Amino acid sequence: MNKEIEQVALMLKTSRNTVVVTGAGISTEAGIPDFRGEHGIYRQLGEDRVMQIINIDCFRSNPDHFYLFYRKHFHSYAHVRPSPAHLALAQLEGQGLVKAVVTQNIDGLHQKAGSRRVVAIHGTADRYVCTNRACQEVYDQDYVDTYPLTVPCCEQCEEALKPDVVLFGEPIKNYYDALELITGAHLLIVIGSSLTVYPLAGFVRDYCNSNKDLLIINKGPTQMDYAATLKVDAGHTGDFLGRVLDRI
Ligand SMILES: [Zn+2]
Repeated sequence: MNKEIEQVALMLKTSRNTVVVTGAGISTEAGIPDFRGEHGIYRQLGEDRVMQIINIDCFRSNPDHFYLFYRKHFHSYAHVRPSPAHLALAQLEGQGLVKAVVTQNIDGLHQKAGSRRVVAIHGTADRYVCTNRACQEVYDQDYVDTYPLTVPCCEQCEEALKPDVVLFGEPIKNYYDALELITGAHLLIVIGSSLTVYPLAGFVRDYCNSNKDLLIINKGPTQMDYAATLKVDAGHTGDFLGRVLDRI
């Protein structure tokens, strides 16, 4: 492990453009279950059912049904604290060693940890946006939690609010920002993602086509292990990154 720590510290110090991609694995260290993991909502409720309800068509055609389910199963992350791994990435950005984080997570923990440039391709769960295009007022979790009806509506125009997350049937957010950051990086670090979800996995594949360094820190195998300059099978990412920071 010491050799790996030295190598990662050196890679970070010598790269002028490092971008980090994060997935569910980094947030399980903050106590948030992976949706697709053993205790995740997909296993508990059935992936088909979740996909049918957490779906843009369901939201539009039957918002009551959508919100009954959403309110019950998708909890707020307001009281979750960032993990040591989130904090380490914010510190690396502060030292000028990480340019940006592209995340699949909707928990907002990178922003909470102090990372400034965060591209959340699946949106952020504690934000709600008015569906009236002419209005687009933004509301927080408190407003929705204390709203007297199942479907929260806008104070200004009374249209329904939509959680600012990417539902099934919707395209990812910030597609071009994410693509540009990833393919333009000189060092790409993937943390806590098995890289099975597209289009993100495709962006990482594109990056690898130009023979640049890829570092993967993940518990278990990923789809891109074969292309990695270094693969770290870290049991605890926060510990690992903390030790890397000590060497920088
Ligand atoms: Zn509105």
